[in-house]
Amino acid sequence: MPLRIYNTLTRRKQEFVPVTAGKVGFYICGPTVYNDIHIGNARTFLSFDVIRRYLEYSGYQVTYVQNLTDVDDKIINRAHQEGRSAAEVAADYSEAFIAVMRDLGVKDPSIRPRATEEIPAMLEVISCLIEQDHAYVVDGNVYFAVRSYQPYGQLSGRDVEQLLSGARVEADERKRDPLDFALWKAAKPGEPAWESPWGAGRPGWHIECSAMSSRYLGLPFDIHAGGDDLVFPHHENELAQSDACSHKGFANYWLHGGMLTINKEKMAKSEGNYLLLKDVLQQVRPQALRLLMLQTHYRSPFDYSVERLQEATAALERVESAIRNLSWVLKSTAGVPSAPNDISDTNVSWTADLLAKTEQARQQFAEAMDDDFNTAAAVAAVFELVTASNASVQNGIRGDTHHRAVDEALATIIELLSVLGVSLKVVEADAAYPPEVLTLARELAAYPGTNAAEAVDALLAVRAEARAAKDWPRADAVRDRLAALGLVIEDTASGARVVQK
Ligand code: AMP
Ligand code: ZN
Repeated sequence: MPLRIYNTLTRRKQEFVPVTAGKVGFYICGPTVYNDIHIGNARTFLSFDVIRRYLEYSGYQVTYVQNLTDVDDKIINRAHQEGRSAAEVAADYSEAFIAVMRDLGVKDPSIRPRATEEIPAMLEVISCLIEQDHAYVVDGNVYFAVRSYQPYGQLSGRDVEQLLSGARVEADERKRDPLDFALWKAAKPGEPAWESPWGAGRPGWHIECSAMSSRYLGLPFDIHAGGDDLVFPHHENELAQSDACSHKGFANYWLHGGMLTINKEKMAKSEGNYLLLKDVLQQVRPQALRLLMLQTHYRSPFDYSVERLQEATAALERVESAIRNLSWVLKSTAGVPSAPNDISDTNVSWTADLLAKTEQARQQFAEAMDDDFNTAAAVAAVFELVTASNASVQNGIRGDTHHRAVDEALATIIELLSVLGVSLKVVEADAAYPPEVLTLARELAAYPGTNAAEAVDALLAVRAEARAAKDWPRADAVRDRLAALGLVIEDTASGARVVQK
């Protein structure tokens, strides 16, 4: 099935056809670096990180460009408040942004241009627009003449007349038309400024993305992305500037992500429901946050709650325990003699069954992702394989006689999750317990789960209880049955633990 992507510009899903076969030029608007990013920003950056990863996994060579807006009113205001220079504020928050994105497992972009280092490219686009009467100069400011560009409104579906009557357009008598917007702002005292043909000043926000995307990707390029809130005016203006200057169009596919809310409410500092990514990552593993966010399609709104995050953490642990169990089975040739349904013969149907489920998971994953990056369905496909794997382990599938099936199920779970950027480390020590402890813990400790480490803990708790009640036969039964699995209880100063013989 070919990859289909919903395009905001055409308002429908379209087959993805890149400008150059095998390559993708991808631009995503980066943050304005005046504070730490919140989990709403993180959702948008995570969504497109996964889309980029899937394109790469599908064989495309992706050039992923994300800018840093390091000159802006908000940065200047913050610098004044803190008695620092705008450059210092921007440098600090740029660094913090890069670090926290890495913490979340978001890949570094191929190119990370900074607005302050790209002024010449912006001056070029502005000059190009002035030459073609799409822009005009007033007192050292340059404005884009919205009405000079007939298709204006095409991306957001807005009509210029409606915009004029309904919108809150800022009054500025220097503009010829209230809809016009600044490409270049004349310098004010105490603000950062660069030389230009129209006097010292600084760029407007929209022009930076037009200049950087065309400089690094050429025109037209394939994908332009950002959150929903950027469609108007930011992306509408980027498109107008770039196309008015170049006559080559701009981005072929426009992708927009839905907004994040917290407990069904808009995230707002004033409401007290405002979460910074760095604070959330203090409390939860990044893989769990990724898994949670990916269980909603990127275009839908996403509602964050602590309960949902806990569920995602539990789901992640289920996956990890399945991986541990499969790893164990793969290495052991002892089979699982105490399993309820002993299938430790060479019964090929078990191999065939798990192989078929693995193949099905791969297929469903690819179909979901090819359908406008439906990560929710893709995650569900992996979870189904986890359930199937757990069932085969509990039923006694063997690493020697069913080696290929176990190996492929294990590798597939790890591979598909890594495409979503959910990297699971399979540490040797994690696989220290044989899956038989699950059966044993079910029998002796009424343990219902599939996590071998938890099962061992439950067995140790039963033994401790029995010893406290001087029920020696019961305490000994735990010890002896574990010993039969090659596991020895050691009583240490910090409590009992189980080690392999
Ligand atoms: P900004 O620094 O405000 O330009 O935002 C950086 C990115 O985060 C943009 O792509 C925004 O669309 C996105 N963004 C801002 N708020 C939210 C939110 N509540 N949910 C999802 N994305 C958001
Ligand atoms: Zn932008």
